[in-house]
Amino acid sequence: MIKWESDNVVREDRGLKIGRTKILPAIAARGEESSYNAHYFQYMKRPDVFAPAAFSLRDRVNSYLEKSLSLEISFDPKSLEFASSIRYSSLGAALVAEAVEFMAGHFAAQQCKVCGSWFRIGADQMRKDRIFCSAACKCEITERENPQDDAPLVQTRRRIIDPQFSRAAADGLFRFG
Ligand SMILES: [Zn+2]
Repeated sequence: MIKWESDNVVREDRGLKIGRTKILPAIAARGEESSYNAHYFQYMKRPDVFAPAAFSLRDRVNSYLEKSLSLEISFDPKSLEFASSIRYSSLGAALVAEAVEFMAGHFAAQQCKVCGSWFRIGADQMRKDRIFCSAACKCEITERENPQDDAPLVQTRRRIIDPQFSRAAADGLFRFG
């Protein structure tokens, strides 16, 4: 939840409490008394909640990832080639990094028409026109298919761009960290 306290202060309501006091961390504030991320106001204005939510999510993900992954280089003496790899400090870090790739639109996910599970499609992962998660599911639909059953196989492709959804996903992933 994002709350504009005034034209100059926007806060995040995470539902956390200390005693009876609700914690409302500031996303940005500008003024003579306190100034925090004041440059964000260049891109957001009351009552817009999309930009503040996106800034807040970005800042939280970045502060998490800063401590959670590193880039390494390795050398293969046989092929005399260098290779790069990303090292994650935990499973949570790897999952958050994956969520970040989805949010940035580098991957899209698609739901299997048979079992309903989500699988990743993208350039080097899987063909973009795939509608089944596995060969087993593809076989099942071939066996099950019935001409009277007029429900067409509609392909739904989904890119996770909804900030609330991405936020919920990232929040969920943070628990593994
Ligand atoms: Zn499936």
